[in-house]
Amino acid sequence: MKLFVANWKMHKTRAAARAFAEELGRTIGDGIAGAELVVAPAYPLLDAARDDRGRWRLGCQNVASEAEGAFTGEVSAAMAADAGCAYAIVGHSERRRLFGEDGPVLAKKVARCREARLVPIFCVGETEEERDAGLTATTLVRQLDALRSDASAQPLVVAYEPVWAIGSGRTATPEDCGSALVHIAEILSDRRDLRLLYGGSVTPENCRPLLGAPRTDGFLIGGSSLSAPAFATIARA
Ligand code: PEP
Repeated sequence: MKLFVANWKMHKTRAAARAFAEELGRTIGDGIAGAELVVAPAYPLLDAARDDRGRWRLGCQNVASEAEGAFTGEVSAAMAADAGCAYAIVGHSERRRLFGEDGPVLAKKVARCREARLVPIFCVGETEEERDAGLTATTLVRQLDALRSDASAQPLVVAYEPVWAIGSGRTATPEDCGSALVHIAEILSDRRDLRLLYGGSVTPENCRPLLGAPRTDGFLIGGSSLSAPAFATIARA
């Protein structure tokens, strides 16, 4: 099964989320064979984005690093699970860059996901400077270190998202994508249930060769996932 995750970021209203869900439902009919779909909206849109027929599951884009308490503005992993999420994106580069999330915080977030039985979609990827300095592999090793205390028998999704490819219209080549994913698979070779995604400016036009890259189990999709037909076209690839 390939996995396709829609990361809506901070987009849409409840009405727009409902319209997306209705259109996606019409577009995929009984579902897409061989494809698991996940929609990750902002928390207030979870109910509107839900599919009562279970053709896609819900994810959230972040969880708190603490379980409960006086943390104004935070949403816990348990709350996200209670609201119907099966997955949680952890360590997206926008969270790392704009909100200062680092390895120790992300390790705690992964632990909170486990307590709540959410499958983490753990994001890694180098910046353009790191890539130009030949530091892609080193960066991946450093970022994946946050998973050191996470029990290896548990299901895990890792998304390789080179920062320079996110929202930029520049995708990694299938070769670059494949070599990063193979490296990630080697680092996490003790994992029994590991799926690896690519993310970064995936579109209906460019998705096919990327899906053929070694070790690619699917995509984490930002911009193109805001349109139900585009999301479905990518998942059909
Ligand atoms: C993302 O935000 O995870 C992402 C991959 O965005 P985009 O597809 O827009 O590059």
